[in-house]
Amino acid sequence: MSAAPGARPPVALYVHVPFCLSVCPYCDFVVVAGSAARGPASRIATFVEALIVELGLRADALDARFGPPGPGRPPLESVYFGGGTPSLLAAGTIGDLLDLVDERFGLAPGAEVTLEANPGTDERGDPRALREAGVTRLSFGAQSLRSAELRALGRRHRPVDVATAVAAARAAGIGSINLDLLYDLPGQSLADWIETLEAALALRPDHLSLYALTLDDPDAEGLTGPTGDHLPVTSGARAWRERARPGQDEDRAAAQYHYAASLLAEDGWHGYEISNWARPGHESRHNLAYWERRPYEAVGPGAHAFDGVVRRWNAARLEDYLGALLPAPGGTPALPPGGQERLDPATAAAEELILGLRTDRGVGREALLGARSGSATLDWALAGGLVEPVTPSDEVAVTARIRLTTRGRLLSNELFSRLL
Ligand code: SF4
Repeated sequence: MSAAPGARPPVALYVHVPFCLSVCPYCDFVVVAGSAARGPASRIATFVEALIVELGLRADALDARFGPPGPGRPPLESVYFGGGTPSLLAAGTIGDLLDLVDERFGLAPGAEVTLEANPGTDERGDPRALREAGVTRLSFGAQSLRSAELRALGRRHRPVDVATAVAAARAAGIGSINLDLLYDLPGQSLADWIETLEAALALRPDHLSLYALTLDDPDAEGLTGPTGDHLPVTSGARAWRERARPGQDEDRAAAQYHYAASLLAEDGWHGYEISNWARPGHESRHNLAYWERRPYEAVGPGAHAFDGVVRRWNAARLEDYLGALLPAPGGTPALPPGGQERLDPATAAAEELILGLRTDRGVGREALLGARSGSATLDWALAGGLVEPVTPSDEVAVTARIRLTTRGRLLSNELFSRLL
């Protein structure tokens, strides 16, 4: 099979590990929990077996399209174990998977290898063993550093667990540590958010991802069918979200975002994407590949891949995933069910603009003017103080690159909808 025009081999690999000890009621990630995640009925070992088969099949397909890794095909620059809770996998398993990835896809020297971990005592894994297995970056799902908020979110860990997990990761020599935090929690005041932010900064992480809590309905969005990339929402989670929604507040969320952006800028952080801040040199190379629209491979239930032309995804349902890759004796392993879409050139260009505007590198003024209603959108964004030149001394009217201001980041959804 030869590659479609414009298709490129991946520079990054995403591995989805769909297990958590329990499911948080706001979570829309592809997750199975309870007895599937630990104990005698755990599905983790079977999943790893299937993952190994999928990695082999995906590598075969890439070899057929682009030739084997080597002089004509660059090695991967990053691998990202996301979830779920990938820290539930033994460090030895992560090491074996990385060896396989290196053998079949090629892994560049100094590649960034991120693993998402939960801070709880029984789910954070052994950072020293993870570092020895090849993990260079740990991303902790802290979410809040206030006990009451963590309890309300259905999280298993306490604030002290976050501090312990970060200290252990540092002591183990993990070179880069991220904390995920959530704002716009139901009833969360600005002062509450500041308390979490300041407690997080006191732990000296290298990277912060700050997300507003979103309470979506993937069923209503048609994402949960047999080939969908989401799992249906349980009735309990649906009821929780309905109770939580009235406690959110758009204006308060804007104030929380604004406060964080100012505080982190003053403290020397690089706000390199709408939701992401890094100490210089700790920007996530893997996530930058997404925002720069570089090609990436992906394995695991619900995982999305992109080859520069076509987006493809695996369906979310674990049993369908396992059934395809680990058929009954006599059967032939097959790639799991899923879907794909080829973006038309106009949509691809708009997507590139939007992803570029999410980052502080911004986009070329000409590219913005070339988009659907680009000229009117630029005039509107300028009048509202939503964009600025990337180089401060430049005039927006003549500058080569334009990016969002903090106000523009807050109103980015409206700006992006005008470009689509
Ligand atoms: S720990 Fe993370 S991935 Fe797991 S259920 Fe909670 S929010 Fe979802």
